[in-house]
Amino acid sequence: MAGGAEEPHPVSGPGDVEVTPSRATDVGGVPVRRALPRRALRTVGAWCFVDHFGPVGPDAADAMQVGPHPHIGLQTVTWLLQGEVLHTDSLGSEQPIRPGQLNLMTAGRGVAHAESARAGTGGLHGVQLWVAQPDASRDGSPGFTHHPELPQVEVGTLRATVLVGGLAGATSPAAAATPLLGVDLEVGPARGDLPLEPEHEHAVVVLSGAVAIAGTVVEPGALAHLGTGRDELGLAAVGTEPARALLLGGRPLGERLLMWWNFVARTRGEVDEARDDWEAGHERYGRVASTLPRIPAPSTPWSS
Ligand code: MN
Repeated sequence: MAGGAEEPHPVSGPGDVEVTPSRATDVGGVPVRRALPRRALRTVGAWCFVDHFGPVGPDAADAMQVGPHPHIGLQTVTWLLQGEVLHTDSLGSEQPIRPGQLNLMTAGRGVAHAESARAGTGGLHGVQLWVAQPDASRDGSPGFTHHPELPQVEVGTLRATVLVGGLAGATSPAAAATPLLGVDLEVGPARGDLPLEPEHEHAVVVLSGAVAIAGTVVEPGALAHLGTGRDELGLAAVGTEPARALLLGGRPLGERLLMWWNFVARTRGEVDEARDDWEAGHERYGRVASTLPRIPAPSTPWSS
């Protein structure tokens, strides 16, 4: 995590769809479009971080090698469209993840993990999302769950895979501490309509192709913020090719976060302690069995 220098202002489109450009960056050698957080938009429900990485081709053999690093106060959600990633964490988990499967790691008061793409598994394309843990449970124990199968549901012309939460009678086994929705959508050229919870806030990130949302065309590299108060969402692929999109939603978090590097906290003091504990090899993060080099914490901008 590092703050961006220049952030374009969001562009309002018809139907109150606010399109915010993602920030281009790099994680472990793979190009990333960071859709959240943005200065103009910090969270969507409890979703506080959205990285869309790749696609990179199968020749990018060493793509995404991220050595051991810590997290606090968040859940990581990893979801792949292509390729395979090996997750190793300080709880002793060693889990390959493939397209259609979900990895959910809960950091609580502290966890560490490493992630490496496996060569020869068809390139790499996917997302890593973070969910801010609420005050009530963010000091809890770390955990890791692999969900090899997720419910799928057809809603009109849309095929939905429910990563987190529930949609049209399909409910994900992945557990979140606040009301939350994460859905992968296959979108065809014929418009499909999804029911939404109007008290929740929603956003769409397009992963491939282009999608028309209430008259606004959204492509990879942007987040379409829909706000609250909608009870349905119409989506159609633009052109003849199908598109893939991620629908994110949830009850507005209502907690003020301090996000720095790999930490989701509330105060600078908490971040300083989490950072210093990682540098000191504190037991709160455990040990990760990985041959990749451990990632040192940078200095906080307020420490100098
Ligand atoms: Mn991580």
